[in-house]
Parts: sequence; structure tokens; C-alpha cells
Amino acid sequence: MQKTASHRIRTTPLAGHNLAREKPTSQGPEKPIISRHSPLLFIRGTESFADTPIFPAPIHPRHRPTATRGANPVNQTLKSWALETPPAETVYSRSSARPSAICYHSGGMEPYSIGVDLGGTNLRAAAVDEKGKVLERVSVPANFHAGPIHVVSEIVGAIAKVRDRLDPVLLRGVGIGVPGFIDIDTGVIIGSSNLPGFNDFPVRDEIQKHLGIPIILENDANAAALGEKWIGAGQNVKDLILLTLGTGIGGGVITDGKILHGSHGMAGEFGHMTVFPDGNPCGCGNNGCLEKHASATAIAAMGRMMHFGQEINSAEDVYNLALAGNERARWVFEYMGRALGIALASLINAFNFPLYLLTGGPLPAWDFFAPPMLAEVRKRSFTFARTATRIEKALLGGDAGLLGAAYLPFQQTMAREPVTH
Ligand SMILES: [Zn+2]
Repeated sequence: MQKTASHRIRTTPLAGHNLAREKPTSQGPEKPIISRHSPLLFIRGTESFADTPIFPAPIHPRHRPTATRGANPVNQTLKSWALETPPAETVYSRSSARPSAICYHSGGMEPYSIGVDLGGTNLRAAAVDEKGKVLERVSVPANFHAGPIHVVSEIVGAIAKVRDRLDPVLLRGVGIGVPGFIDIDTGVIIGSSNLPGFNDFPVRDEIQKHLGIPIILENDANAAALGEKWIGAGQNVKDLILLTLGTGIGGGVITDGKILHGSHGMAGEFGHMTVFPDGNPCGCGNNGCLEKHASATAIAAMGRMMHFGQEINSAEDVYNLALAGNERARWVFEYMGRALGIALASLINAFNFPLYLLTGGPLPAWDFFAPPMLAEVRKRSFTFARTATRIEKALLGGDAGLLGAAYLPFQQTMAREPVTH
């Protein structure tokens, strides 16, 4: 995923980068070199990460769907793990820290904001009140490749649809999680692989012009981290880091309750941390980036190279083999866990935060990758070994970015309000 200046879920801007573009090595095609004894797994030749369906985002068990959604080819491939939108009445509660009971909309009596998520193939918008209760939501298939004018019109339509079901006077603002690099100050998308043609397009001002309400853009991984801080796994800490495992690996840093942007808005690009100096080439120009060794895309690519004797279309296929007891499939997750552990140890050593969260499609494979991941972190981080630092699963699944985006206007309002004692 990308960060804005910024997915900032980032589906990293590099998500879907096609390694097939990499030059073949002089050692010739294409035979992957895999050594059980090597910390590295080289992918050469024509192996492509580009079209590997990813794991869907995990879903809270209460919201686990019984059927796949129709038009999304990725979800069709993912079968029963398909990303589904929780029902409109889903409530995320600050007090329970977990999606909880049912409460349909409030009748327009409470102030609310609208969060928008542009990830995947659907455009989602949700009205959320100040306690994190989802009042209304819409999810519509969107063609994010149709150009900014068309996409902006779809975004405006989705926001208006949600707003029109409630009292527009009580709307406090709109936050939009964008899979790309964003200039936060100007509201311009600097780069997004998911939104071609948007570069330098004044998307915030265009939407604002149509709706006449304040719009805040944010990188979607940052928004997801903020959502987890607000009403997810991180609500009891001020500082946390979220890693989103998907096509690529995105990240968000929350410090003192707020998103850390960095000087160019690009903080948190943890998918491009080097975990193996001579590891797999990455579209960013580096070798051995975390996302080339631990993303859902990387899991599937490693699975294909293991020649399991069956077609591997996704990380979920590798997971199912691991579940069935296939030792080599389990090794793929062990390898992925080591890569994550190396990255997390560095993050813990650098930040000394109390909480590090993982989210994304591969989370169901936690029991396979977490033990080697935690062993690696213990080995490489004195801080982790000697403190109560936690590495845990995030709680909000695919809704984290949507909810975090909805929180942005509330947070901005709070920042403006005078502090009273
Ligand atoms: Zn990279």
C-alpha cells in the first residue's frame, strides 16, 4: 500500500507491482531458488506478484459472511473468505472495544460524520456518530479506473446517499481514506496505483464544491490505524503501529492519539523496510522489502514456487494446504513470520510503543506465522523481550479504514475546541 504525503491501505502504491518487469538474471530463467536453509527466498524470472488474488481482510466472526459477493472477481476467487461489508446495524463501541450490539440509526439526533473508503473494488461510505456507532452505510461497485471526474461523481453520490438518510444539519464532515500518496494540506492525490489519472487532481476541493461540506483526505492505512485507536484494538493506548497485510504491506503510526505523517506525509511505509538485504526485488527499487516477503501476494508467490502439485491462486490456497498438514506450506508461513518479526523488532526498537497491530487477509494464518514471528522479535529486540510490548491482531478488519476516516472530522473538531479544566 501507499502512503500519502498520503493509501496513505495503502494498498501500497506498489501493490500489484509486476515483478515480471524485472530483468531476468543472467542465471536464466526462471527457476526459483528456494533453500530451506537460507533466510532468503529469491524470486526470479517471470514470477509475477501482480495478479495474485489477495486474502480478503479478516472479518469479525459475528460478521463473517455466508456467501460471496457477486461482481468482484477478487472476491469470487476468494470464496468463503470474501470481504464482506458488515450489516448497517453493526456497532463498534468504545466501551466494548469490539463490534457489538445492534443499533440502527439514531433518527438524526446525534452529530455524525461520514467516512469513505476507496480501497478494493467497492466504494464504501458510512455515517458514524461520535461514539463510533455506524448509523448508515452504503457500498457500491466502483470503477476507480474511470478517471477523476467519474470517480468523484461516484464518491459524491455515495456520500449524498448516506447523508440524505439522516439529518444533514448534524453532519460534521467527511473523511476519505485514499489508497495513495496524498498532500494532506492541499487535498491533492500525489500518486495512487488504485486511482490512475488522479495525480495532482484537486479531489478534496472538487468533492467539497459538490457537497458544500468539509472534506479531509487521509491515506487509508493511516485511517485504518486511527480507526483501531478510536474504537478497535488500540483504544487503551496513545501510541500504536498498524501493519496492513494485503497485496502489499502498508502501515500507520499513531502517536499521542494522532496520525504521524512525517515531513512529506510519507511516514509509515513499513512495507518497504528492508528485511533481507539481498531479497526479492521490489518495485520501489529496493531489494528485500517486507512486502515482498510477507504480504498476501508474497505468500501466494512463494506457494506457486513450491510446486505443491495444485494450482495456487491466492494466499488462502497456501493456508488451506498448511491447514491440511502440508509441511512446505507451513514453511511459507514460517518464512513470512520471520520476515514480519525482523521488521517488527526494528519498529519496536525504534518506537518503543506499547502496541503493534496486524490486520489483513493473512490474519487467519496467525497460528502458523505468529510463533516464528514472535521468536524472531524476541531474538532481535531487547525492548520486546524485557517489556510488556504487545503484538496483536487488529479488531476492526476491513472496516478500520472506513471508521478511521469517519473519525477524522471529529478529531479535527476536538483539536479546535478550547481545552477546559
Ligand atoms: Zn519496496
